[in-house]
Amino acid sequence: MAFLGDYHTHTVYSHGKGSIEDNVLVAARKGLKEIAISDHGFGHMAFGVRRCELPRMREQLNVLKQKYPQVKTYLSVESNILGRKGRIDVRESDKQWLDMVVCGYHKLVWGSETAYFWSNNLGLAKAATIARNTEAYVKAIENNAIDILSHPGNGCKCDVREVARACRHFGTYFELNGKRIYLTDAQLAEAAEEGCEFVCDSDAHSPGRVGDFSLPLERIRRVGIPMSAIANYDRLPDFRSGRGGAK
Ligand SMILES: [Zn+2]
Ligand SMILES: [Zn+2]
Repeated sequence: MAFLGDYHTHTVYSHGKGSIEDNVLVAARKGLKEIAISDHGFGHMAFGVRRCELPRMREQLNVLKQKYPQVKTYLSVESNILGRKGRIDVRESDKQWLDMVVCGYHKLVWGSETAYFWSNNLGLAKAATIARNTEAYVKAIENNAIDILSHPGNGCKCDVREVARACRHFGTYFELNGKRIYLTDAQLAEAAEEGCEFVCDSDAHSPGRVGDFSLPLERIRRVGIPMSAIANYDRLPDFRSGRGGAK
């Protein structure tokens, strides 16, 4: 009984501490079967990975595939949702380099819609803000082949039930983040009730934390989410982008 993959790990390409190889090496040592490198999306004002680095990252992963054949590697990005219309900062031309897409809300992202940017950066909890954020999540999931929704509710209050429903409908995994979970137990229970599937990720910013799922595990137990709903526990996720779920 074990976690088999970690799909949200950062490297020096955004603001992680280790190299791509450092993360893959830790994954191999911990017996993970799969790992994704998911550095911050291009629009992130402080930490976004540069588009021009993608070919180099791809090349590094190709070398590591030979060196660590026991670990399947994915090149991903932790993309940013830009607003109510559900646009994200992955362009069509980026997809040639990527194997999958993690996506979530982050503050301070270039190209964000104005009301969405300010209401969240000022931390407004008004009904209009929640409605706008919920629509942004749902449209992003609907219009883009997002494989994993990273840390739902982080800095972005939303209707969790509706977001979970969209995840289930479109086959996007709802992330239980290893650094911090921003939702209450009641909200996590709502997500589980909606029947969406979860992925636990470390969100490691240093190689030593790759494969650390202790926080998600604690919440899973407390809320009573069945382990059969965790797509990277004792099985491997079936990512929607890999099934041609892209639009
Ligand atoms: Zn994040
Ligand atoms: Zn992250």
